[in-house]
Amino acid sequence: MTIERSERLLERAARTIPGGVNSPVRAFGAVGGTPRFIERGAGARIFDVDGNGYVDLIGSWGPMILGHAHPEVVEAIARALRDGTSFGAPTLAEVELAEKIVEMVPSVDMVRLLSSGTEATMTAARLARGHTGRDRILKFEGCYHGHGDTFLIKAGSGSLTFGVPSSPGVPAPLAELTLTARYNDLDGVRELFDRHREEIAAVIVEPVAGNMGTVPPRPGFLQGLRELTASHGALLIFDEVMTGFRVAPGGAQELYGIDPDLTTLGKIVGGGMPLAALGGRREILEDLSPVGPVYQAGTLSGNPLATAAGNATLDVIRREGAGLYEKLEERGSRLERGLRDAMPDGSSLSINRVGSMLTLFFASGPIEHLASLEGVDTAAYGKFFNAMLDEGVYFPPSQYEALFLSAAHTDDDVDHIAGAARRVLARL
Ligand code: PLP
Repeated sequence: MTIERSERLLERAARTIPGGVNSPVRAFGAVGGTPRFIERGAGARIFDVDGNGYVDLIGSWGPMILGHAHPEVVEAIARALRDGTSFGAPTLAEVELAEKIVEMVPSVDMVRLLSSGTEATMTAARLARGHTGRDRILKFEGCYHGHGDTFLIKAGSGSLTFGVPSSPGVPAPLAELTLTARYNDLDGVRELFDRHREEIAAVIVEPVAGNMGTVPPRPGFLQGLRELTASHGALLIFDEVMTGFRVAPGGAQELYGIDPDLTTLGKIVGGGMPLAALGGRREILEDLSPVGPVYQAGTLSGNPLATAAGNATLDVIRREGAGLYEKLEERGSRLERGLRDAMPDGSSLSINRVGSMLTLFFASGPIEHLASLEGVDTAAYGKFFNAMLDEGVYFPPSQYEALFLSAAHTDDDVDHIAGAARRVLARL
């Protein structure tokens, strides 16, 4: 496989863009090798500037649930484009998208449209703080909520319950307001609530974690969070940027039957364009400006091209209904079976999957929180990843990520991935 053009482009890009990429994981730092510069996508495939094709398993990190360049989405964007790209004034398409979100996502009465998942979680934290009059946010180790200062926090060591910055540039006094608990560990959450009575504004959680690899909630975990937050007067925020419209039409809250107070959405809701949403109960959302005092704004919020892509994507999802999710579940379980069959005897690999989100861990399971990944063999994952690229399959370039199947992946694609994995794992 020739990757000369990608190599040359990376050198050129690195002269003007830090690391040559606009989001760190694209640099392949965790797996080694040269990032491929992508020229185009079609259905389940992407093609790089050297003309190599790959079965794409990242789908832009989740948005492309219908596959790349879906004709209805392309047509909707083209139609919107001819009428102008941004007005900074309200449009019909925003109202239509908001109505669809409210109809599909069970706990959401109202939404504010924004431009990225980071903006959605950042606004959720501010709104939760403004609504409750409390400052602390409780999050889980291994969950990612975008790069807002409130979330770039790791647990303090020893007896410290306060968080410390996980990136230079995050002020320590702000980090102290973020508490960190172990995913799937309700006792830890209970302890933090006991220690910080009436200080916690909200608990934010990925209801299916995707940012430490796929980690499903244990039975009762989300229900426990619902009860604990309600009894302590704190809000429950489901960060469904990844799971929204992915694990069910109404996201993880529909799948598990739990109603959070606030929900953040991104990725699929924008159909591959920069669009996100913060939704929730009416009396909380009405605290946002201009109705309420909590400030939030955006020049490009509800952008016409982004709402066109989002509306078209949700229209297809609604039209295909349960059948779409049955198909994604079938493909997901076929891939899981194929990968399990491909594992050499005695290997310490494990798989977590929820519908079309899946992670092949180079660690023995069960993987239930970040600490289960202490012994993970990231070097072996890097070798696997690069060998799969050579086989024409684009896995996530990090062990700590989920892969995503789309409606465009066929049984043949899935069998091709499993066949390639068998060859690669046999010689690792
Ligand atoms: N929340 C979750 C659960 C995510 O997976 C991500 C991104 O991967 C974000 C928030 C941040 O979204 P964005 O990258 O659009 O800022």
